[in-house]
Amino acid sequence: MEFLGSVTCEENIKDRYMIQSHGYAAAAAKEALAPFSFERRDPGPSDVAIDIQYCGVCHSDIHQARDEWGVAVFPMVPGHEIVGRVTKVGSSVTNFKEGDLVGVGCMVDSCRVCENCKDGEEQFCSQGATFTYASPDKKTGGYTFGGYSSSIVVDQDFVLRVSPKLELAAVAPLLCAGITTYSPMRHSKIGPGQKVGVIGLGGLGHMALKFARSFGAHVVQFTTSENKKADALRLGAHEVVISKDEEAMKAQAGTFDFIIDTVSAKHDLNQLTPLLKREGKLVMVGLPEEKLPLAIGNLIFGRRSIAGSLIGGIRETQEMLDYCAEHDIVSDIELIPIDKINQAFDRTVKADVKYRFVIDMATLTK
Ligand code: NAP
Ligand code: ZN
Ligand code: ZN
Repeated sequence: MEFLGSVTCEENIKDRYMIQSHGYAAAAAKEALAPFSFERRDPGPSDVAIDIQYCGVCHSDIHQARDEWGVAVFPMVPGHEIVGRVTKVGSSVTNFKEGDLVGVGCMVDSCRVCENCKDGEEQFCSQGATFTYASPDKKTGGYTFGGYSSSIVVDQDFVLRVSPKLELAAVAPLLCAGITTYSPMRHSKIGPGQKVGVIGLGGLGHMALKFARSFGAHVVQFTTSENKKADALRLGAHEVVISKDEEAMKAQAGTFDFIIDTVSAKHDLNQLTPLLKREGKLVMVGLPEEKLPLAIGNLIFGRRSIAGSLIGGIRETQEMLDYCAEHDIVSDIELIPIDKINQAFDRTVKADVKYRFVIDMATLTK
């Protein structure tokens, strides 16, 4: 009797303190994603529970699920381009209420007190930000699970407001591809009179192109895919260069103020640095599995620089979402049912995505 009683009690606690969630997970590196059920914590006082409606498919999800960066944790529920509706809020939540449209990006927590957090750059938290998936979760003692799932519980400070003006599914990619390209261009004060190059026309690349154009720069899209030329022009490029064409590359040498490199695989940086003007800057956001060799002379002759950038802080992510609502900027997407996620991974790796896959979470069978 006592044993049975304690089981009942545990079940009650589970009912009260956990939210059942289901999604798709990779059980191990390079395994196909498959249906997976797990629990989310019940919202604490400062938490927001969200019913996920759409989640974008970032190339980082593929690098991670295939353990290409060597930091993966399994089982892994990827996904950090999340949009949905608030279903429940904790007692001290003031910024959100049930029914609100919200987004969650690459981070769900940080220390809040280090210099970087205080500066609004939580992605560089000196204690390590809690990333949305496969990251140690101080709140539960386990690891975080991401947005390829039915629901998520997130501290209110890491929840973003989403405008109902924009198409919700096409907003999802803004939470990573959007902020990752918006942030370095804002930091470099990109605007009229500047020439900007975008390397790679995928999820990040097409957002970089839209933002650079919107900020008033002259934009040149570099692509390895001849068949993307017309799209690049439609998406806002003033010029398109096929990067395999050596003559066309030479014609652009020494002319760029700023280049953003979004390429996900091994490529030649020494083909890109000569494109910069004196004092021009190449910002890396793409993070290929392999190390990329760099000829330093190309930087020294011209006082050129090369830098990196990681997503953006929460305040800047909200600023980017508000900017997109004001300027009618969203991602160009292919909406997919969740059971097509493995094909979507394969097509993304082949650079065959126009220009971001987004999962319709209504297709998740319970
Ligand atoms: P994506 O949609 O797959 O786009 C990558 C594009 O790179 C492809 O569409 C292709 O464009 C080009 N490309 C692919 N293989 C290439 C090769 N071998 N040589 C030259 N170009 C090649 O990927 P994504 O989601 O935009 O992500 C891009 C990268 O950024 C990934 O490494 C991802 O992990 C990283 N990322 C970084 C951050 C950050 O905070 N820094 C945030 C998100 C993602 P073309 O067909 O036009 O050549
Ligand atoms: Zn991402
Ligand atoms: Zn911190």
